[in-house]
Amino acid sequence: MAMAQRVGILGGTFDPIHVGHLVAAVNCRYALDLDLVILMVANEPWQKVGSRPVSPALDRLALVEACVAGVEGLEAGRTEIDRGGPSYTVETLRELRAGVPPPDLYLIVGWDVASSLQSWDRWEEIRDLARLVVVNRPGAASPVGLEDSGWRVETVEVPNLEISSTDLRERARDGRPLDYLIPAGGVELLRRRGMYCGGEC
Ligand code: ATP
Ligand code: MG
Repeated sequence: MAMAQRVGILGGTFDPIHVGHLVAAVNCRYALDLDLVILMVANEPWQKVGSRPVSPALDRLALVEACVAGVEGLEAGRTEIDRGGPSYTVETLRELRAGVPPPDLYLIVGWDVASSLQSWDRWEEIRDLARLVVVNRPGAASPVGLEDSGWRVETVEVPNLEISSTDLRERARDGRPLDYLIPAGGVELLRRRGMYCGGEC
């Protein structure tokens, strides 16, 4: 019988993707011996919609694809985009678990997200479908009480990179450099598509 795959899922809006995401992904893959880490691009991040305009999902996906091209064990995930509508992690995990044999799932989150997991839709089901992998993130506090709520938690220490998509969008808008904060292929693509600068970069 085929061995179950060990699959990490790092979900995000990736608006845009940056090296903070990628460094977390490769270090979790290494530390937990995962076969694959999927950078799962949210179609409609329902917790962000309304607070700011989100770039088109296919543009965000193309940036992720450009940044993981040729990197072993990292993959851009388009399941949530193909499903359409608001993106619920629980549905994504259910779909992945339907594989044969069902993979072991590792949901990777930074400290900021780990602290608000209980606001997620059907979080108890998420908790039962996947182990939770928590990575440190500067600017946020280490989450407390996850085990008490029944999560199966793995902690992976990653280099502290104080980088956020919010800052990158501001940089692009102001014409400041994005280089080295996003892999070169991603910077080139977002410039070509005129993203984050009103088409002026
Ligand atoms: P935004 O500023 O728009 O919220 P972001 O940089 O937080 O963007 P997201 O797409 O919201 O990026 O994050 C996706 C996931 O990646 C979350 O679990 C988040 O905690 C994690 N993450 C993002 N940036 C880092 C970082 N620099 N270090 C560790 N984890 C990170
Ligand atoms: Mg965020």
